[in-house]
Amino acid sequence: MNILDFVEKFKDEKACKEYFRDLRMKEGVVCKHCGSKKHYWLASKRQFQCSSCSFRTTLKSGTVMENSNLSVRKWFLIMQFTTSNKKK
Ligand SMILES: [Zn+2]
Repeated sequence: MNILDFVEKFKDEKACKEYFRDLRMKEGVVCKHCGSKKHYWLASKRQFQCSSCSFRTTLKSGTVMENSNLSVRKWFLIMQFTTSNKKK
């Protein structure tokens, strides 16, 4: 993926968050409270909610982005282009 593809695919923060949410759903969100992997997406809060104990997990929680104020889009940009540089 080059920079133009990136801008096309992740055109704004919303697109990035949706992609990131789907990615985390696919990989399986683990509840910090009870360890359950069953979650559903709370669209109004923009958080995952555990099906077992109702504990909520934010989009960034449990990832490298957790304690960062960078936007998801900036993280994607960093990850995308630092990874592709390593391959060369
Ligand atoms: Zn739970």
